[in-house]
Amino acid sequence: MRTCREMGIITVAVYSEPDADALHVRTADEALPLGGVSSLQSYLNTEKMVEAVRRSGADAVHPGYGFLAENAAFARAVETAGAVWIGPPPRTIELMGDKIRAKEAAVAAGVPVVPGYDGSDPNHLAREAERIGYPVMLKAAAGGGGKGMRAVHHPEELPDALDGARREARASFGDDRVFLEKLLVRPRHVEIQVIADTQGAVLYLGERDCSVQRRHQKVVEEAPSPAVTPELRRRMGEAAAQLARNAGYVSAGTVEFLVHGSEFYFLEMNTRIQVEHPVTEMVTGLDLVRLQLQIAAGEQFELTQEQVTLSGHAIEVRLYAEEPNRGFLPSTGTLRRFVPPSGPGVRNDVGVTRGSVVTPFYDPMLAKLIVHGATRAEATTRLAHALHDYQVVGVGTNLAFLRWLVRTPALLSGEVDIEFLDRAWRPEEALPLDALALGAAWLSGRAQTQGAADPWRARSGWRHCGMDRHIRFLHGTDPVDVTLEYARDGWQIRLGETTVSVTVLSLDDAGIAATVDGRRTEAAVRIDGELLSITLDGGLYDLPLYLPGAGSPGGGRAAAGSLTAPMPGVVVKVHVAAGESVAAHQPLMVLEAMKMEHVIEAPQVGKIAEILFAQGDMVAGGATVVRMEEE
Ligand code: ADP
Repeated sequence: MRTCREMGIITVAVYSEPDADALHVRTADEALPLGGVSSLQSYLNTEKMVEAVRRSGADAVHPGYGFLAENAAFARAVETAGAVWIGPPPRTIELMGDKIRAKEAAVAAGVPVVPGYDGSDPNHLAREAERIGYPVMLKAAAGGGGKGMRAVHHPEELPDALDGARREARASFGDDRVFLEKLLVRPRHVEIQVIADTQGAVLYLGERDCSVQRRHQKVVEEAPSPAVTPELRRRMGEAAAQLARNAGYVSAGTVEFLVHGSEFYFLEMNTRIQVEHPVTEMVTGLDLVRLQLQIAAGEQFELTQEQVTLSGHAIEVRLYAEEPNRGFLPSTGTLRRFVPPSGPGVRNDVGVTRGSVVTPFYDPMLAKLIVHGATRAEATTRLAHALHDYQVVGVGTNLAFLRWLVRTPALLSGEVDIEFLDRAWRPEEALPLDALALGAAWLSGRAQTQGAADPWRARSGWRHCGMDRHIRFLHGTDPVDVTLEYARDGWQIRLGETTVSVTVLSLDDAGIAATVDGRRTEAAVRIDGELLSITLDGGLYDLPLYLPGAGSPGGGRAAAGSLTAPMPGVVVKVHVAAGESVAAHQPLMVLEAMKMEHVIEAPQVGKIAEILFAQGDMVAGGATVVRMEEE
């Protein structure tokens, strides 16, 4: 919409019921309601969308990067309605939307592909997996967003993995065809941005490295790739352009590869602009959306391949309303404060603003933060500072996780691969000292104001020891000891080797304002049973108190206790029956929520007392799904 405004083009937005007041609605010149709440009732509803195109009288439709952006039927319907589709021709979308056919097209264009078995005949899969050699990757032909994808390391895991991949693929795409690929060990994910005009000219605009992934979904994207030499860039670029040419490609597209040393293998082609396109814009100085609009208007490129140059280094991170400390579950609420960072070389693409309501209905991405620097080192330093300055209050986010991530040696050196993050991530490492310090100061302050009647004093969540106080929290399964020492103007709070000074400015039942080593901070604090919850800098930290005598928390109670659904969803599989004995970490039930499968595991050894839901049942978030008892 920003680009349209620059070009003097009027924009019309569409919106669902919960989005009536959303930022995209306020930004557009006009807006049309679609009605409906879920994405199926609104943004994914082709009929309503086409009706909106007709009603608006729009000349062209830009589908963005989500929802129907890669839907050939919608593209056709838009063209039938008399508008221009800003994207490739529908038959090209179809070809690339089928990963099996796309790989065939790559082979035909002379592009190397990951070795595998591209027939979808299930009877041959086991034999083909042996031939390819384990480990292998099962993928959905219609796949996207990591859905229907399973890594299989041993032959005996194949039947279950096949089952899960098929089920997920059928639920997400209505197409359960799967195929096999060799699982490449620790490759990098490097993708080439291509752009093609309607006259058959194709350019490649360098690469983006998206190796920092969590469970095969991108978390950090950068350009150029620290692992790509000019020679490799040229080889990959020409391969991607050749594939685009053969496919009759038009508009912006991305050809994704896995890279091992100087070898590269085609993965898939995305037939739309991507979330991470800003890093390419920042190093090439081009506006990709402007190019898309010019191409859709039938203009020929003025730019030649030689004129495409890369300057400096750009990195993007995605800000999500999800909580790393709770297994990255989405979080909802109203944004009471939303202040993105600013400064030279800092770009914010935001989807929300102060007062926005984050609902559970759509993708939890709130914003993208993109930085540019003359060198990679300058870009990473700039990113760290920008993340530090980001302020979000009211909704839990992945900010603390991103702040941890930009400080890891692997990210700083650029020596990452697609498994790096899943290997390196430890939730406790992102636990900021500030949260612990403020939590401890709050507990201590409350105890002082409430005297001996305070339950935490009575239940000895902490105890006196001369002038020192000790509080023991649990983070994951590890105890974390915090010592508070009263000094003249506040607390000296010690955690391991580190000490911070905290001066309490104000403190009440709901929170605390204090200076931590001279920095003013504020946190909302809540206590519920033995659980202390601290909201700080947009992150929510759950700190269970360690109560001596209660055994290890969580675990002690869970042997005889209830397991709850982490979020609303549908039961897709029940693995156990009432009366069965189970081992620690044994999978009990599989829930599907936000299009992802969540496995509910036994927290420890025990017996199943009751299963409250059957396969196919809808479950509310927080509902008890399984009751366990001690054997
Ligand atoms: P989707 O379209 O569902 O996102 P992709 O084919 O683009 O699936 O793959 C997504 C990610 O999965 C890749 O970036 C990579 O991390 C991982 N991946 C895919 N295929 C393989 C493979 N053969 N070996 C190792 N990792 C793979």
